[in-house]
Parts: sequence; C-alpha cells; structure tokens
Amino acid sequence: MRCPFCQNPCHEETVECSHCGFSLPKLDQYLGSVPKVRKGISDEHGRLRTKERSRVMGAISRLEKKFPQIGFTVLIEKVKPEVPLHLYAFWIFNRSTVCASVSTGAVNRDILLTIDAPGRRASLMIGYGLEPFMSAQHLTDTLEHAREELTAGDFQGAIVAVLERLETHLLQLHGSLRRTYGAEAAELGIKPEKSDLVNRDGSPVY
Ligand SMILES: [Zn+2]
Repeated sequence: MRCPFCQNPCHEETVECSHCGFSLPKLDQYLGSVPKVRKGISDEHGRLRTKERSRVMGAISRLEKKFPQIGFTVLIEKVKPEVPLHLYAFWIFNRSTVCASVSTGAVNRDILLTIDAPGRRASLMIGYGLEPFMSAQHLTDTLEHAREELTAGDFQGAIVAVLERLETHLLQLHGSLRRTYGAEAAELGIKPEKSDLVNRDGSPVY
C-alpha cells in the first residue's frame, strides 16, 4: 500500500510512515470521534429519502449477490472542507467496525464509498484483498462516472452510478481471472502475479 498522506510506499502494518510520520493515532487526534458506520448505508443526516434509500439498497444487494466476496458500504457525511476526503475515508475504513475489524489483511474485500454531502465530494476505498485487482485508475474512473450526479447533489444517482461502474470493472476483472486461472481460481479470489492480469483492452490492471 501507499501512505495515504504522502503517497510513498509503506507496509500495511506499519504504525507510522517512515517518510512523513503519518499515523492513524495522529489522524484520530485530528478528526476526533469516529462516526457510526453501518453496513450498507450510513446516512445519519438523512440526505437520502426513503425511496432513494431503497433504490440504493437494491443496487448494493445486486452487486453483493453477483460478487458475494465483496461488501459495499456507503457513508454520507458532513466533512470539514479543510479535511482531505481521501484521508477521512482512510480513517473511517480503518477505524469503523464495518470494514476493518470484520475482515482484515488479504481477505478484506470491502468497498467504502464516502460522500461529503455539503462539499459534493466522494472517495472510494477498497480493502487490501481487492488491491491486486483494482487499480487507482479503476477507482478514479468509477468516481468520474458519478461526477455529474454528485455535483448536482443527486446522491442516490451518484451511488447507483458508482455501483454500476464497479460492476463493469469487476466483471471485466473476473473475466480476466477466469481466462488466466480458470473458473475456480476466479471464485476463490487467488491472487495473480502482477504482470499476468490485463484488462479487456490489453492494458495492465496495475
Ligand atoms: Zn507518508
């Protein structure tokens, strides 16, 4: 993984980044107490109406049925404008009970979408178990797909757009794994070697 602050490479179990001194306890001091995050949708300030909420739940269930190894959570919050959203998302991902404590290390295949409602910002984080398969480019592309809805304040539309794009990427990756390693390897989530996994257009997944 890379340090979320300075982006230099560091080991996932490193307590403090050797390049910039970044650490989770420092982030705790900076950000205070961790908001409550529930599996699925966390929307304490009620940004989603009931109908929108059920549409989002439906879209999450569809993705999780197709990819049972993956858990998707969306957090809609109010984040101070001066806080970089990717740092906030990293903090939630590591400190909330939804992602970090349920599945850790290589088997963590959770996906967390964090939306800062007033700032119309979004960040997408994936567990270590998905890192060999999904690149930063996949994540950027997925968020880009939801930009219009997000900018318009249509959070339901943005979340559904993210889920649709994620599904497209995951299906592509699943297809690549099947071709390279056979169906069983794909189902079991066996890690491919870095150079082996390519997208449909031939570009490397990394
Ligand atoms: Zn650092």
